[in-house]
Amino acid sequence: MFLFTGCSPKPIRYEETKFLMGTEINIIVVGNNRAIIRSAAQAGFRELSRIEDIMSAYKPDSELCSLNKTGEREASKELLYVINKARYISELSNGTFDITCKPLIDLWHNARKTNKVQDAQNILDVLSVIGYRDVSIKNNNVKFNKAGIKIDLGALAKGYAVDMAINLIKDYDIKGALVDAGGDIRAIGKREDGKLWEIGIKHPREGNRIIGLINLENSAVATSGDYERFFMLNGKRYSHIIDPRTGCPVDNQIVSVSVLSPDCLTCDSLATAVTVLGEERGIELIEKLKGIETLIITQKDGNFNLIKSSGMMQFIPHQDDF
Ligand code: ADP
Ligand code: MG
Repeated sequence: MFLFTGCSPKPIRYEETKFLMGTEINIIVVGNNRAIIRSAAQAGFRELSRIEDIMSAYKPDSELCSLNKTGEREASKELLYVINKARYISELSNGTFDITCKPLIDLWHNARKTNKVQDAQNILDVLSVIGYRDVSIKNNNVKFNKAGIKIDLGALAKGYAVDMAINLIKDYDIKGALVDAGGDIRAIGKREDGKLWEIGIKHPREGNRIIGLINLENSAVATSGDYERFFMLNGKRYSHIIDPRTGCPVDNQIVSVSVLSPDCLTCDSLATAVTVLGEERGIELIEKLKGIETLIITQKDGNFNLIKSSGMMQFIPHQDDF
């Protein structure tokens, strides 16, 4: 008779993709029991969908849309938390990150639909209602202090949702998990082969070519890039990220910004902030923050360049040249 002791089964992987929050969401869970890892992944999807119902600027019944309609309301703890975090990032980034950019986002969305660049006066008029300082929070109440203020959480709600999904998944009997919401990624534990999770750094213009890898060890990474959600107008490429100082889409040689930190909310919001700040001031900001690193791709005179913050290299086991 044989007796097998101390031999644990080989972990298995469950993987599922759904379309939520305007993007493809991929959840991978690793563990010993298929029913458990499947339930964990599904709990993750339910959490993302719950947060979308609160923070979407497009779902007319969301809490955010109701706030945008009335300009004042009592808000859930989660919405308050994300609005407060946004304010903190606005202050860190000198106002280049600003969730009250929504009227400008709508203006440029319209430019895209009508195929017409906005005229300068129009932009100036809309700029006059932008400003994160005009959103005040008292107890559980959010109030807009100026007519016309509207909030868009597109730059950080996905990061928050990824964190919340991971928080739920980690309470299951699992060995590891990764949640990827269109490039906003957080991982815990290990893969089924016992190795660290690896994220590919995509070449910005060459489809699926991977130019490097980033290791995630109970941490998150988010990327803001001009290659996934840009639009073309009169032959020019326009970013979906707006510079609140000019009222126009960012136009500063930055192709993509990845930010690495322990949580995805921080990564997502800072990736957008650094995109607006540009290479030099962006790196300067990240160097001031403990435990946060960045990898920036720029394009100058047709050439791509990789710029890394001082601690980034230790998370990159492999990198090619362009
Ligand atoms: P993605 O949604 O592609 O992951 P980001 O996280 O960079 O990209 O967020 C971009 C979104 O943030 C835009 O689609 C818009 O909704 C919003 N946004 C645009 N410009 C700003 C800005 N300066 N500050 C805050 N949010 C912005
Ligand atoms: Mg972002």
